[in-house]
Amino acid sequence: MLTVENLVAGYGAVEVLHGVSLSIRKGQILSIVGANGAGKSTLLNTISGFIPIRSGDIRQEGRSIAKQAPAVIARAGIRHVPEGRRVFSELSVEENLQLGGYGQPKAVVQARIEHIYELFPRLLERRGQAAGTMSGGEQQMLAIGRALAADPKVLMLDEPSMGLAPLVVAEIFRLICRLRDEMGMGILLVEQNAKAALRIADLACVLSLGKVTMHGTGAELLHNPDVVDAFLGGH
Ligand code: ATP
Repeated sequence: MLTVENLVAGYGAVEVLHGVSLSIRKGQILSIVGANGAGKSTLLNTISGFIPIRSGDIRQEGRSIAKQAPAVIARAGIRHVPEGRRVFSELSVEENLQLGGYGQPKAVVQARIEHIYELFPRLLERRGQAAGTMSGGEQQMLAIGRALAADPKVLMLDEPSMGLAPLVVAEIFRLICRLRDEMGMGILLVEQNAKAALRIADLACVLSLGKVTMHGTGAELLHNPDVVDAFLGGH
């Protein structure tokens, strides 16, 4: 569904991604793990169109979206939940969700929001609450819910577990699995929490210094001694 080929991108004189290739299908979770500064966020921001591509290609369902504006890429069905879950803190949960479907027919978006409430009952309980007054875990659910309001085909999640307590992290990861299993979504997951990310991954890769240095199934990487030493705290 989404294919990235030999992607090169960076900031000013600095090249950060040196030819990254990956692909993701419907109903698959692809987890990307890597050290701080490996280029994980840069990769997601480049796919989203926020950072220009220097060379390579990105295709969504066979059509190149390289060099398109972020709004065009979003309309092609790719939604990005950035690091730090930026919800509109003054607005209510429901208003945040409505904004996620901005530009699409109101009744269609409202039906999606009802479905999002089924997936995240916590958001339903708090539909009128100002987003900024919710817990970190609830704000992360809202940030994901807002992306879902646009009915994406591919969801890109940047560090959804950041700063959350272990029980909340487990809940977020269960939800991510439901999005794959019940909605058939393709999910690109960037995580520092490598163990959790590899456990739920169908496919996974390690990004080091802007290059994919290992790839395989989630289980293969979870048991790979080099990955264990580098990212899973060794044994
Ligand atoms: P982290 O987990 O720490 O966020 P990451 O793997 O997501 O790491 P990136 O944030 O993509 O890594 O950063 C990759 C490299 O690009 C780093 O060397 C970083 O300093 C650099 N970089 C990131 N953003 C910018 C920017 N806006 N301008 C210049 N350099 C940047």
